[in-house]
Amino acid sequence: MSGFIKGESRHQATLFPEKLDDFVGEDNPVRVVDVFVDKLDVSGLGFKLDTSSAGRPSYNPRTMLKLYIYGYLNKVQSSRCLEREALRNVELMWLTARLAPDFKTIADFRKDNGEAIQLVCKQFVQLCRKLDLLTCHVVSVDGSKFKAVNNRDNNFTAAKMQRRLDEIDQSIARYLARIASADLQDSKAAEAKVKSMNDKIDKLKKEIERLKKIEIQMLEQPDNQISLTDPDARSMKTRGTGIVGYNVQTAVDIENHLIVAHEVTNSGSDRSQLHSISSQAKLALDADSLDVLADRGYFNILQIEACNEDGIFPTMPAPQTSNSLAQGRYGKRDFKYIEEDDEYECPAGERLEWHMRTTERGVEIDKYWTTACADCPAKSACTTGEYRRISRSQSEELVDDMLERLELEPNRMKTRRETAEHPFGTIKSWMGNTHFQTRRLENVSTEMSLHVLAYNMKRVINILGSSALINAITA
Ligand code: SF4
Repeated sequence: MSGFIKGESRHQATLFPEKLDDFVGEDNPVRVVDVFVDKLDVSGLGFKLDTSSAGRPSYNPRTMLKLYIYGYLNKVQSSRCLEREALRNVELMWLTARLAPDFKTIADFRKDNGEAIQLVCKQFVQLCRKLDLLTCHVVSVDGSKFKAVNNRDNNFTAAKMQRRLDEIDQSIARYLARIASADLQDSKAAEAKVKSMNDKIDKLKKEIERLKKIEIQMLEQPDNQISLTDPDARSMKTRGTGIVGYNVQTAVDIENHLIVAHEVTNSGSDRSQLHSISSQAKLALDADSLDVLADRGYFNILQIEACNEDGIFPTMPAPQTSNSLAQGRYGKRDFKYIEEDDEYECPAGERLEWHMRTTERGVEIDKYWTTACADCPAKSACTTGEYRRISRSQSEELVDDMLERLELEPNRMKTRRETAEHPFGTIKSWMGNTHFQTRRLENVSTEMSLHVLAYNMKRVINILGSSALINAITA
């Protein structure tokens, strides 16, 4: 057919044989992977080096690491897919010097070198610091739930177990009712129906036995929950529905959107994560102090206290625990704390005195109120109770400072959303919106480090360009 661009013949010989290097452009990101890994001190990072002379020599950890970083940069994360790509992908042939390990060797490398791989991810953050890409010392902290290998049907909580047992009981009752009605008919079809129903009931009884055994194991777990495929995965609430997975925490630099620190947890809530992830970010940045933006899901006075003690200053909105504001009555911010008297002044000018101290979720809370409420003309705008009570924690001034920072810069929450959610969206899209490849917290943490390393590397390549990055690494 004429009229189309013609390709070269497969059988065309060339005068000068083409080199593999000819197929990889000077600014190809694969060259960044190559120089970055070649510059690493692999034995210092703790990679397992098998240099024994006996038997077949093993693969160089650098080759294996290059293979993985390339894979995570290019949405090829499974060991079987990497094995296939190493045999047919020109960039990978260039990167690994045409070595193509089998999938088992590839999978074992990730499993056996978890800590070292996580350190490589940290090394890249240090490189970003040297390149002056992390000078801002303000990070957004956020968490996102990632699916584990574990199917939802293979995760059991007390509530789920009860629901399943109830469903089985209802099914058995339904089958028994059908057997009773079939028994009234004297036909071969009815006989066959009864037999089929009895078989189904036997299967359901076996299922009850299986569930009862799982229930015993489940009740032995500290959180009364068990996952059969990945024992570390946990049932977690998400916006749409629940998943069985992990809660990944990240601290993202607000200027260049680089992930400064990350941590994989199997806690479904963010309430106890702020101090840990912020401290890791502060350490990674080697900062004297760090500003942290977070959403109200992180609000926990004990965590805020711990952060402030370590020079970390979080900013987040306080959760609405009282309905007063929503229902059009005075909010807590309408009451002014008079420090020298340890009293609050209400909008009607009355003083609310200290009355008692209680402990709620490990936090000491002081309670203030005044008996003047009984005759107050503004009472309907203030409280539906006998008196308006105001609670104050021991670290309330930290919360006041935090809310003041937010009032001065209301755009901070917009900045948080724009920075923290971007990396999660990118990584999830690279994962193909599917689950992690590995099981157990330790292995999933390694996998996440590879994702974060690939994300940061791609981001820096976008900011500086491959050639500039290569020059900076080799300088
Ligand atoms: S109801 Fe009580 S706290 Fe509220 S404005 Fe009146 S006196 Fe003050």
